[in-house]
Amino acid sequence: MNMEQAKQDLMKLQEQMSAYDHAMGLISYDGETTAPKGTAANRAHALGILSEITYKISTGKETVELLEYLDAHQQDLSDREKRMVYLLIKDIRFMQKIPMEEYVEYQKLIVESQDVWYNAKLNSDFASFEPYLEKMFDYQKRFAQYAAPDMDPYDYWLNEYEAGLCKEKLDAFFGALRQRLVPLIQACGQKPQVSDDCIKGDFPEDKQEALALWLMDTMGLDRQHVGLSTTEHPFTTSLGSHLDERITTHYHRDDVSSSMFSVVHEGGHALYDTGSDEDLAYTVLDGGVSMGIHESQSRFYENILARSKAFVRFLFPKLQNLFPEQMKPYTWQDLYRAVNRVQPSLIRTEADEVTYSLHVMIRYELEKRVMAGEMTVHELPEAWNKLYHESLGVTVPDDRQGVLQDSHWSFGAIGYFPSYALGSAYGAQFLKKMRETVDVDADLEKGDFTRINQWNREHIWHFGSLLTPQEILDRTLEAPFDPNVYLDYLESKCKDVYGI
Ligand code: ZN
Repeated sequence: MNMEQAKQDLMKLQEQMSAYDHAMGLISYDGETTAPKGTAANRAHALGILSEITYKISTGKETVELLEYLDAHQQDLSDREKRMVYLLIKDIRFMQKIPMEEYVEYQKLIVESQDVWYNAKLNSDFASFEPYLEKMFDYQKRFAQYAAPDMDPYDYWLNEYEAGLCKEKLDAFFGALRQRLVPLIQACGQKPQVSDDCIKGDFPEDKQEALALWLMDTMGLDRQHVGLSTTEHPFTTSLGSHLDERITTHYHRDDVSSSMFSVVHEGGHALYDTGSDEDLAYTVLDGGVSMGIHESQSRFYENILARSKAFVRFLFPKLQNLFPEQMKPYTWQDLYRAVNRVQPSLIRTEADEVTYSLHVMIRYELEKRVMAGEMTVHELPEAWNKLYHESLGVTVPDDRQGVLQDSHWSFGAIGYFPSYALGSAYGAQFLKKMRETVDVDADLEKGDFTRINQWNREHIWHFGSLLTPQEILDRTLEAPFDPNVYLDYLESKCKDVYGI
């Protein structure tokens, strides 16, 4: 093998893998969006066969020899190539430890499990989903043990979603949040309640869709490369490369804010992915590096920008224009207060910024217990309801609005949830830094995202997965990560809305 040939083969291997990813991603995306409801078994069949092929390519002799050769000649590789080899070897080492039959079975199970979850949520029927969820937790425990037998299985997955993360660090992070959030929520609760009447009412779906597309344009998404459709649970996915990005939303006719903010949230993910350097397409460096950094972008656009006073002022005339009757009695100040109302509630994706992290902590606590074998999957609904009562003071009326609300567990994403709270906190510190050079409020008042996007592109997006999450934080923040910046941000928001 010579180096020139090896480098060419490295690129060819990644192109081939991204083509399979494209096909498999499209099959899953179709299942979530337009496929007829009875077709899950058909998709599972195709995905089973395709994942067997990708498993064989990844762990095959040719691939392993190529990567070992490149790894042994690090001195001849560019930084990009070194990182590609590192990430590919990491993936392959994982695959090599998992028996192929189990890997393929698991891929098929994901399709079935998502389908069962969808119906279980619809009918608020946890019992039908329970055996699938049990299998999901079992697989995640087993895969972690295969991959890192000496490591705690939950720590293994936390570190997969955000390199460097573990229970110990998260306990400290959540502890710091809880200490200031709980009294803040109580203080808001003691103030006269803020009305959210202006976002509740009757908002026809076609108008909400027009609003969604306008928001995508406003935030600078290129709709030639970013598509929008509807699903039960909103998400973002890249197909093959950052050149084809899909986001989804869910319209609630009685609440305009739900889809509005989820479009901006998913739009933030899509900006991050599509902001990768052009020449990273079809490589493992294409797209965002971790879920923590990903959520820092999505939650930055959703909350820090879209719920800011400056942006709401810009947004209000658009809502007046689309929903003239509904908006007639209200001002932009009413809208600002409504979308920043602090109110303990049942649904995470619709929670306000202040109570949001408590929703995440509940999921973290439950995952931790099940992964450690301290609790069974069967006990999850009751434990969920109990924690919601204890932490947020709300009574969960049914599993649809409780343990079945999120899709994550149905596709095995255990250890993902903490990224939401962590990302929110990263975002507040990014804002502080951005403000040093960009007049964020002046731009938002005009609905101009040019300089904001430019800042994010320069500091975060264009690297794709070239830098680690920690490297991005270190280079961008030029200071240690500090959750108190996030807590300061939330307190000043409450001061503004509630006069605390
Ligand atoms: Zn997200």
